[in-house]
Amino acid sequence: MNEPTYRIASIPGDGIGVEVLPQGEIVLRAAAERYGFTLRFDRFEFASCDYYLAHGRMLPEDWKEQIGAHDALFFGAVGWPQTVPDHVSLWGSLVQFRREFDQYVSLRPVKLMPGVDAPLKTARDIDFVIVRENTEGEYSQVGGRMFSGTEREIVTQETVMTRVGVDRILRYAFELATRRGTPHVTSATKSNGISITMPYWDERAAAMAAEHPDVAFDKFHIDNLAAQFVLRPDHFDVVVASNLFGDILSDLGPALSGTIGIAPSANINPERRFPSLFEPVHGSAPDIAGKGIANPVGQIWAASMLLDHLGERDAAAAVLRAVEEVLADPAVRTPDLGGTATTETCGRAIADA
Ligand code: ATP
Ligand code: MG
Repeated sequence: MNEPTYRIASIPGDGIGVEVLPQGEIVLRAAAERYGFTLRFDRFEFASCDYYLAHGRMLPEDWKEQIGAHDALFFGAVGWPQTVPDHVSLWGSLVQFRREFDQYVSLRPVKLMPGVDAPLKTARDIDFVIVRENTEGEYSQVGGRMFSGTEREIVTQETVMTRVGVDRILRYAFELATRRGTPHVTSATKSNGISITMPYWDERAAAMAAEHPDVAFDKFHIDNLAAQFVLRPDHFDVVVASNLFGDILSDLGPALSGTIGIAPSANINPERRFPSLFEPVHGSAPDIAGKGIANPVGQIWAASMLLDHLGERDAAAAVLRAVEEVLADPAVRTPDLGGTATTETCGRAIADA
């Protein structure tokens, strides 16, 4: 029987993205060899500030044709504010991918890892996933200013929730909880203050919970939920949230588990009509770029999520186990974790494991 072959579009971007992405690739190659499938990597230099300086834009005209048929996008980091303002580089690349490829789920796992000092005394069995709605909600372009510049100035911005948009993110969360085997979904709300959209969110969440009787369900107001992340982080399994609440929780969550250098992120189109994107949470880190000391674990953990999305569950789990095994060894930790290892030493050790 032929081995399955997956085509991966590798997009390193800027700064340490260029350094950590190859480490993710060698780990993916090792996993493919071990678990009997084939990966074909195509490298793309666009979505970087160098590309922008040469072409006056972040992406070529036909970028969708170039990467739209790949099985996944493996992304490093974008941004080099010394030459291109962040809003130009980000909006011209990642935001385009998210929008055009309808990546309406933003996924952020939060998990305690060996060798990483978590900032919390309460940190014990932290292992949950934040599912953020990525396309509508509070980040609408609806609203305006009246009486601009006068004492009577009025500014509004509306939250837009659609049945399709709310249901599809909730359904994803419940199905993910079922797959994770410890089925429990927590919904972030604020229906005691936001009196029209958030009660609607609650209503749809309750309906989705009724459709999934095997999944335990609870909801917290966002203010209390932020506190519970700190006080009882082991309570959570899958946390589902609107765009704004998810944005905030997606930074708080990884902060609970120690360092930005190890956290991964995925932007998913669950229907697979378009490729999904896997990247580390961190940015291009100009302050340490070019030194070979960036922590590659965020990129490698993103590689594990990529494998999971391809359906290569065993390989995905093996990569995560290798990360845990290597982080437990002080000799291969990068400087952000108090060690002296280089990006390459750490990546190689995980690939070997
Ligand atoms: P963004 O690009 O999202 O705006 P940013 O530019 O503010 O983020 P990062 O580029 O993520 O932030 O860097 C924030 C800090 O974390 C920097 O001091 C950087 O050196 C450090 N850092 C980020 N990623 C890593 C990594 N992989 N290894 C070690 N240190 C890192
Ligand atoms: Mg940045």
